[in-house]
Amino acid sequence: MPSNSRVIATDAPLPHRVRLFAGRFRNWRRAVSWPLLAFFFLTPWLSWNGEPAVFLDINQKEFHIFGWLLWPEDLLLLTPVMIGSAFALFFVSMYAGRLWCGYSCPQTVWTFLFIWLEEKIEGSRNQRRKLDQGKGSGLQKLRRGVKYVVWAALALATAITALSYFYPLAHWWADVKQGDFSAVATTWVVIIGSLTFLNAGWLRERVCTHMCPYSRFQSVMFDTQTYTVRYNAERGEPRGKKGANGEALGDCVDCGVCVQVCPTNIDIRDGLQIACIDCAACVDACDSIMETLNRPTGLIAYEPEEQLTAAQRWRLWGYGAAASVAFVLAMSLPMMSPDIDISSERDRQRMYQLTPSDTVENNYTVKVHNRKQEAVTVVIFDGEQSLGEMHLQPGARGSADIAIERDLDFADEQVSIRIQHGDQQAVEQLKFMNPYRRTLASN
Ligand code: SF4
Ligand code: SF4
Repeated sequence: MPSNSRVIATDAPLPHRVRLFAGRFRNWRRAVSWPLLAFFFLTPWLSWNGEPAVFLDINQKEFHIFGWLLWPEDLLLLTPVMIGSAFALFFVSMYAGRLWCGYSCPQTVWTFLFIWLEEKIEGSRNQRRKLDQGKGSGLQKLRRGVKYVVWAALALATAITALSYFYPLAHWWADVKQGDFSAVATTWVVIIGSLTFLNAGWLRERVCTHMCPYSRFQSVMFDTQTYTVRYNAERGEPRGKKGANGEALGDCVDCGVCVQVCPTNIDIRDGLQIACIDCAACVDACDSIMETLNRPTGLIAYEPEEQLTAAQRWRLWGYGAAASVAFVLAMSLPMMSPDIDISSERDRQRMYQLTPSDTVENNYTVKVHNRKQEAVTVVIFDGEQSLGEMHLQPGARGSADIAIERDLDFADEQVSIRIQHGDQQAVEQLKFMNPYRRTLASN
């Protein structure tokens, strides 16, 4: 903290009322957050082949994602996606700081949306502060009430949208029309809606500072070349509007706007802080002040502590390479997974038995999972002999009990069955038990 820094006399006992400021970084934030919001709110309305485009069906243990059908066992396929995402996050964080926090984290996106609504309904920061001080008119008080209603409506819409990924809107609406208000669904709407209202409307920066684990392990990823929002103290200090006794001052006029616009209510001039989410609202604000004063912009800017060449940033490129490998693997795994999953198990009650026609019989259960988006007919063959048939709807699982017979002198310990589905087939090896052969041999 600079020796001559002082805390701006802002609204200490009053709630922090964020002032929104236009600028290029706000434009960037909107360019990221509006499409994310649109994706979140519109996806439940989309359909794919007559079904919801995204439906995480917990009851059936099926996940429908834009025509892709996944089951819990496929979560293994998501492992490289998660590893790749973690390395991608390390890469981005090491290169450009908390971009995720400042631009795309739902906490930030919803908080800025709530602040935007607050300003649109209640008026400027000064008007809101007057109301906080008990100096507002009746109309302003009414506007504050309207703001809470609008916030609650947005929180409710958020909760219903979040739930509709698990309980499609069409199903839900059909149930509601029949008077069936699912207690589970209603409880989740209340929980998600309340949390949205509290987090974005009230807790805000406290979530980033005290609850979010990501902000805690940032320092592991940062190095001296990481771009983060910094205040140029050399240029800005000593700060002030007018030097006493003609003292030469730095470029910071101590207007306090950088603090007023900060969603986490910190003063970036105190140095890097864990609460700073790198949203650059203070950069936009200070640049605007500098332009008004005809001074160069960049007193607060995205800057690294030191500049190294690309070749010296081996750890950064290591993260990038690891993320790329993981994503390539993630894309290739689904292509390698079969359309039909087959497994088999021996009937433990009847390991083997002698048949009236003097053959030995082993019994098995063959389980088939149709992972295709279309119905299939599966036929199980022992050589050319059909042992059973299953008609499976898309995503359905089925099982068939089969018996395999062999002559008493059959010596192999394994038999193979052929599972035909459409023009494709798979071969499954089964362990075969024939204790009668030893009896035959000893005779
Ligand atoms: S906005 Fe810029 S000039 Fe104003 S107090 Fe912050 S750093 Fe100083
Ligand atoms: S200090 Fe600046 S960059 Fe950091 S959270 Fe506050 S406004 Fe955003």
